[in-house]
Amino acid sequence: CARGLTKVYHMGEVDVHALRGVDLDLLEGELDVLLGPSGSGKSTLLNILGGLDTASGGTVVYRDIDLSHATESDLTNFRRQHVGFVFQFYNLIPSLTARENVAIVTEIVENPMTPEEALALVNLQDRMDHFPAQLSGGEQQRVSIARAIAKNPAVLLCDEPTGALDSKTGIVVLEALKRANETLGTTTVIITHNAVIGDMADRVISILDGRIADIKTNTSKRDPSDLTW
Ligand code: ATP
Ligand code: MG
Repeated sequence: CARGLTKVYHMGEVDVHALRGVDLDLLEGELDVLLGPSGSGKSTLLNILGGLDTASGGTVVYRDIDLSHATESDLTNFRRQHVGFVFQFYNLIPSLTARENVAIVTEIVENPMTPEEALALVNLQDRMDHFPAQLSGGEQQRVSIARAIAKNPAVLLCDEPTGALDSKTGIVVLEALKRANETLGTTTVIITHNAVIGDMADRVISILDGRIADIKTNTSKRDPSDLTW
């Protein structure tokens, strides 16, 4: 849960107020979408929730971990154990196959899936021995999703995972994320401009100028006892 989150970037003489007081609760197992215009603070918020960045003010608590007062090494551990990240660009290692790209992550965590299981979940069981250059953009992004979910994170944070893809391929990628969310119960937050996800999501959270402008809930099945943040 996040309370009163602010983020100010100091750029020489100028202060950029990226977040201006964000209160947000995310529930276990939910799939939420973050929408908002360019510069509204979406990436900043996601990075703070995932422990990639720290807030200037306010509190963020994940289960019993207070991220707002965590040390750098606490944040590193938090990210390693609990969070999977997916970004617009897939960041795959070109000299490794799909299977090997996933395997490098499963080697460093405690209860990983096998690379084969993770790749099957995103429908890439037939592409395990392909190198990134032999895969389409959508397939490469699905490898990066497999890599993110293979460590069995409690939380999956995706910053414009379909940003580099055409809309049809983007839908396939979003469906892979939805499937991972439903199969594994991974709490998932997706920043996307792809309108289709609005129907797949439990909630659509709109951000405007560093504040939450609106939250639309798609389901009545939410249980407040399942609070994640
Ligand atoms: P987009 O849709 O374009 O990705 P966004 O909603 O993700 O936008 P953020 O990246 O969170 O927006 O940026 C919010 C504001 O903070 C913007 O005005 C941006 O210029 C500023 N900002 C973001 N990162 C930094 C940084 N590292 N240093 C300085 N200013 C930053
Ligand atoms: Mg962004």
